[in-house]
Amino acid sequence: MGIPYAFIRAFQKKEPFLDKEKRLPKQQEIFLRREGNMKGLYLGACLDSARWGSQTTVMYEMSKKRMISFIHNWMNQNNDNFESLWHERKIEDLYKRFNLPHINHEFCPVNKNHKERISDLGGRIRCSHMDKRYLRPSFIEQISSGGTFHFFERDPYNDLPQNESEWSDKDREIIEQYELEEPTAEIIEPCYAILSEKGRILSFETIINRLNLRPETKTVYCPGNEDFAPLSKKKGCTKERLKEMDKEERLRYEDINLCPGHSEPNDKIEFSFDGWDLAFYVRKWWEQIKNPPWFKEYEVSK
Ligand SMILES: [Zn+2]
Ligand SMILES: [Zn+2]
Repeated sequence: MGIPYAFIRAFQKKEPFLDKEKRLPKQQEIFLRREGNMKGLYLGACLDSARWGSQTTVMYEMSKKRMISFIHNWMNQNNDNFESLWHERKIEDLYKRFNLPHINHEFCPVNKNHKERISDLGGRIRCSHMDKRYLRPSFIEQISSGGTFHFFERDPYNDLPQNESEWSDKDREIIEQYELEEPTAEIIEPCYAILSEKGRILSFETIINRLNLRPETKTVYCPGNEDFAPLSKKKGCTKERLKEMDKEERLRYEDINLCPGHSEPNDKIEFSFDGWDLAFYVRKWWEQIKNPPWFKEYEVSK
């Protein structure tokens, strides 16, 4: 990826691009969002002034959605000429090559001996190697993911208590059937792994997803239930959290009576490059087609 641009600036001993007046990154982000505060400023400078940095990574106290709305806000503030304000330098001056994170594999990522290829309607080239498998007919289930269907075999052991003595008669019957049944159902499915997306317009969300070093979600605990709290002091979940639980979660919770932790969208993003480079990614994204999609559900092919 080369030397982060902010470091080049630092080596040249230039003044920081924006005077933050001692604002922390979060305060700086809120300050910049106010009407007019990003007018005439490079996107790279704005992003780079609203980040935390370690020696190797750069972190924004923003969720994915908040990052998208921040960039959108900058565009609105510079409505008439934002296309001339991505960065103070040209991409070609700093990088020989600077590409969006398209998937591009030479071999099938599932099995490199798969040779067959097809293109789908979304501008992707996929592996169309046909796999033949045999499953137990009574235990076949179908899932749909990413617009394709996939068959798999349900493992009844997963639904039962670990301790066999807790099984009901019905449970034993199911297990017996599972153990005795022969896998006679022939399933033929294409592998369908993505080989290349060169013909696809990437949404900004997908670009962030691929470059972000933090997981999509994080686990939070109700107050007083953090990992370090002693077991005897833990209080269980708050009323609000209990209301959010579905029936199954609720039953499991009543069993243990401890906060199991809750999954929330991550409110931080982390990259291996600075805000100036992020501005280059935004530019590359914008230049794909007229009005490229922000969110992945609106992705299209060229
Ligand atoms: Zn394959
Ligand atoms: Zn909880």
